[in-house]
Amino acid sequence: QTTIINGFNNNTTTTPPHVVLVPLMAQGHIIPMLDMARLLAERGVRVTFITTPVNGSRIKPIIGRVHESNLPINFIELPFPCAEAGLPLGCENCDLLPSKDLIVNFFDAIRLFGHSIEQHLKDLVPRPTCMINDMSNPWAANVARSLNIRRLVFHGPSCIYIYCSYVFQLHKIYETVTDEFEEIAVPGLTDNDDVVSQSFKECKLHAPGWLNWPGLEKLPGEALHAEETADGVVMNTFDDIEPMFVEAYKMVIGKDVWTVGPLCLYDKDDFCARIERGNKAAVDPEKLFGWLDSMEERSVLYVSFGSLTRMKVGQILEIGSGIEASGVPSIWVIKDVEKCSEVEEWLEGFEKRMSLTSFVIKGWAPQAVILSHKAVGGFVSHCGWNSTLEAVSNGVPMITWPQFGDQFLNERLVVQLLRIGIAIGVKKPAFYYAEDEIPVKKDDVERAVGSLMGDGVEAEERRIRAREIKKKAVKAMEEGGSSYENITRLVEYIKHEPCKDVQGTEV
Ligand code: UDP
Repeated sequence: QTTIINGFNNNTTTTPPHVVLVPLMAQGHIIPMLDMARLLAERGVRVTFITTPVNGSRIKPIIGRVHESNLPINFIELPFPCAEAGLPLGCENCDLLPSKDLIVNFFDAIRLFGHSIEQHLKDLVPRPTCMINDMSNPWAANVARSLNIRRLVFHGPSCIYIYCSYVFQLHKIYETVTDEFEEIAVPGLTDNDDVVSQSFKECKLHAPGWLNWPGLEKLPGEALHAEETADGVVMNTFDDIEPMFVEAYKMVIGKDVWTVGPLCLYDKDDFCARIERGNKAAVDPEKLFGWLDSMEERSVLYVSFGSLTRMKVGQILEIGSGIEASGVPSIWVIKDVEKCSEVEEWLEGFEKRMSLTSFVIKGWAPQAVILSHKAVGGFVSHCGWNSTLEAVSNGVPMITWPQFGDQFLNERLVVQLLRIGIAIGVKKPAFYYAEDEIPVKKDDVERAVGSLMGDGVEAEERRIRAREIKKKAVKAMEEGGSSYENITRLVEYIKHEPCKDVQGTEV
């Protein structure tokens, strides 16, 4: 059945604009969309946020806060069709998939989910005037058309990735270039006088395109079509972090593009709300933050690889040994799915030896709050775009260890263009390595951590650059800043642009 948690006050005399937000059911997509929902609602837009029972229960504390503060957001929990798509019951988020073999089933479920969303929206009162859909939901194009409402695409990943993937697909590079390692000049950046833009090359392996996965061959084309036929694009980035790519993307896509990030800066000073960001934290906040408060400024390393990456047992032990050898205090996140007897046993010894200088979180970590603590001075990250933005927004330099998707391009942005990170040195996506291959050794970790957290000139300059880009990120979200003003323009667009019929005629 459907659960509706209604946050609308229907006693208003005028009809405010009403936007339906449909995220991809994955943490890195739900979290920023929820930030966006609150930002839009604060600026006078009614929001309907689509979720599922399992995902809804993860964000329950946020839903509670939204309603306490009377924000006009309506959360709709629709059943996720697990059984119909051959998924285990309750497998409603990418991070709950027991194996990557079920990714195709997961996208089948998403397509079926689209049908129930359509049914639901047809009867929704007040009627929605606009949809904002994650790029991974191309079915939304038909739904918006049948409801005769405007549709915007939401991009959770970086613009450097969206742009490179877009032009590679446009220029048929995915089809025509066979060597995945071949460096190809990225088209469309050369109008700019900047030397970096003129020589910017990338290989298919690092710009792998949207949803490039066996069994999902039709999806990238459908997603591209849905992007091209959308009324506009909303991106979780800000102009100053990747100006060259934002400009080039706007040129090539030829429609309204609103850069509205970093969305993670929404409610940045509300500790209680942020501690519950995305899921319930698997750690006692008092204990964790009491410990962090006792540590010296910028002395602690935070190690976490997002919600989807799963490290092999041998790799986990190399990471731990490297952290230990570096002598740097740390907070290290191990996922529930990574726990096994060998890891647990090894961690027991690690935690004993490092009881004063290390904190292991087993499960979900309150990452956004950890990264904003003044004691945190470095982040070993897989370079998921949200994690990258969270590091940037807090001026925390990174050790970059990309795994798949947009993460290699995000690494490039962090290491080469912004120069606020050190690459751990992996060149291939995680699934290219053999089952028994451990790409990063203890010494690699120790060396990178030493360089990042050390007090040499390079490390200090990196910190200075990280603080500079943090200032720009914060400024972008403040009144008068580029993202703040783009949100204003987006709200104006939602309020005033007329609906169009199937032929594009105003109605
Ligand atoms: N996250 C968190 N705690 C965790 C793991 C992840 O709060 O233990 C959050 C993280 O702060 C980020 C999101 O989950 O907002 C992960 O998104 P990202 O794009 O970094 O990586 P993905 O999980 O999509 O690979």
